[in-house]
Amino acid sequence: MKKTLAMLTGILLSAHSNTLLAKEVPFAIAIHGGAGTIKKERFTPEKEAAYRAKLQESVEAGYAILENGGTSLDALTASINILENSPFFNAGKGAVYTHDETHEMDASIMEGKNRQAGAVAGVKHIENPIDLARLVMDESVHVMLSGDGAETFAQSQGIKLVSNNIFDTEHRYKSLQRAKAKMKKAKETNKDYQAAHQSLAVEYKVGTVGAVALDKYGNIAAGTSTGGMTNKRFGRIGDAPVIGAGTFADNASCAVSATGHGEYFIRYNVAADICARVQYQGKTIEQAGNEVIHDVLKPVGGTGGVIIIDAKGNISLPFNTKGMYRASKASGQKTYVGIFKDD
Ligand code: ASP
Repeated sequence: MKKTLAMLTGILLSAHSNTLLAKEVPFAIAIHGGAGTIKKERFTPEKEAAYRAKLQESVEAGYAILENGGTSLDALTASINILENSPFFNAGKGAVYTHDETHEMDASIMEGKNRQAGAVAGVKHIENPIDLARLVMDESVHVMLSGDGAETFAQSQGIKLVSNNIFDTEHRYKSLQRAKAKMKKAKETNKDYQAAHQSLAVEYKVGTVGAVALDKYGNIAAGTSTGGMTNKRFGRIGDAPVIGAGTFADNASCAVSATGHGEYFIRYNVAADICARVQYQGKTIEQAGNEVIHDVLKPVGGTGGVIIIDAKGNISLPFNTKGMYRASKASGQKTYVGIFKDD
């Protein structure tokens, strides 16, 4: 009798603690596939459905890893790989073209427990740049590697280099031709070159990808991967590989992945600024994100958006453009997928 009672109590206790565990340990993930002039009228119903399906596939792949006890870093890398491998987005296959008709990619990753980070800039022959950023964080003594050096490091880690043209897509090539024609016209008609270039950023660079996640161990992390901006020149590097600008994570505040006109995101240190407002001003991630995206960036012409998560599993997805490809899933909740403002 005594034994049976003890067993029963044990079962009740463990059932009770399981319930507590399920309630107390939130986990969540959010992803983006770029922000910009994403207008509903440019989509056929089939195209829109295909984009939504890819976003859903990506967020649910990361979520499954979290659910099975995987880390936030593993989850976000898996989600980003799916977007890098899809021609829909400006990262990996589908990356935009440089002025010289090649692809140069940037990526970074950061974890919030110890603020470890890794980044690569201007790589041309790496199929999944986010994986290389992760290796830079885990296996090198540095934080950011660029160009040929990054690729030599990749080979030393067993990553095979791929031909640059595996990233080619017809729609990005057409965008480059349109961008070049626009810039040529601006020059010929003596228009403000800066202003013309500015509008290119909004129209032709959509599709950077990123993810932020919280795992069951209470650790948050962020990652971003991109082909940068159409028609970029001279080895231009955007915000995506710059820790603090395009990517940031600290368990004490939040994890952020950005997309938008990189030059502004670097100058305004966007990802770190959002987390600093959370940490030092006691703002929620929603307040901090809205302030930086709408009150700081928008008035100066900085277009784009961010995805944010905190260690409690709150998620915020602010943007100041017409749309942002995005999706999220928090423990026990339904998957959310959005493209347009009113989604
Ligand atoms: N932020 C990226 C860059 O400037 C582009 C983008 O997010 O669309 O390189």
